Amino acid sequence: MSSLFDRSPPTEPSRANGFSGNRLHRLSEARPQDAVARALAQPASRLHLFLGDRLLLDFANGATRAFFGEAEARSLGLCADTLILLGTTGNAARLAAQVDEATALPASVKAIDLRSLAIQGLIDGEALGAVAQARSLLAWHANHPFCARCGARTEMRGGGVRRVCPSCGAEHFPRVDPVVIMLAVDGDRCLLGRQARFQPGMYSCLAGFVEPGETIEDAVRRETREEAGIEIGRVAYHSSQPWPFPSSLMIGCHAEALSFALTPDETELEDCRWFARDEVRAMMEGRHEGGLGVPPRMAIANRLIDAFLEAEG
Ligand SMILES: [Zn+2]
Repeated sequence: MSSLFDRSPPTEPSRANGFSGNRLHRLSEARPQDAVARALAQPASRLHLFLGDRLLLDFANGATRAFFGEAEARSLGLCADTLILLGTTGNAARLAAQVDEATALPASVKAIDLRSLAIQGLIDGEALGAVAQARSLLAWHANHPFCARCGARTEMRGGGVRRVCPSCGAEHFPRVDPVVIMLAVDGDRCLLGRQARFQPGMYSCLAGFVEPGETIEDAVRRETREEAGIEIGRVAYHSSQPWPFPSSLMIGCHAEALSFALTPDETELEDCRWFARDEVRAMMEGRHEGGLGVPPRMAIANRLIDAFLEAEG
């Protein structure tokens, strides 16, 4: 008898994607109103600190430390009204907050953007995942101070898992924006495009936001048709990736091309082409004759392309 999980690999492909390693217990449904104060009162609690969109890292004594104690955080300019509770690990709470841009940082502390963190592997996967959660949540709170129903100022509750409106009683929850990212495949070739903002020579999978009332599969078909003029038949889910810029969930799929003549949307794409498997392999391995390349390994696009190469034969 077949199992529902026969085709599920023992190691989830999502685990290989950057920002996927978060193992905090979020306890989202079991948080008291003073969750942040309680967490801060525990000596083992640690904070991820952000200067704008960038994470503070302490490189003192040859280490790379991505979190701080409360007293340290105050000396670095902790903005207490931005404090959120991410969850717990072991017996220790993990929080996050912004720091004041006016506070001078010690020479050993640097602010690093999350893309660089992920690409360079400066911190381990678990911390990187927690930092992604923090970045998305901090951005949501910063950008949603008012009630979308009545316009009154809202208040954070449960250590940051929601906001409530004291005027009309509405509850507001942090948003996650689903994005489909797909590699269209036609036998031994696949479809890659590039946006003008990409670094020179880099080609990637097509991608776009899922729209209301749409399945993942329909979004893959619509986006591929809109961006490249290619009709898609079957769609196979591969993996997902939290993408904290600020709060997307990338849903990676392989897509079966049914038509092949490209009519790229030039407002979205600077170029879009079919690439033969051998050429893609050279791009992946950094030995393409024309200097073309693909996104870094931490990106889900890289993993979708890798799976296409692995599926050879
Ligand atoms: Zn309201």
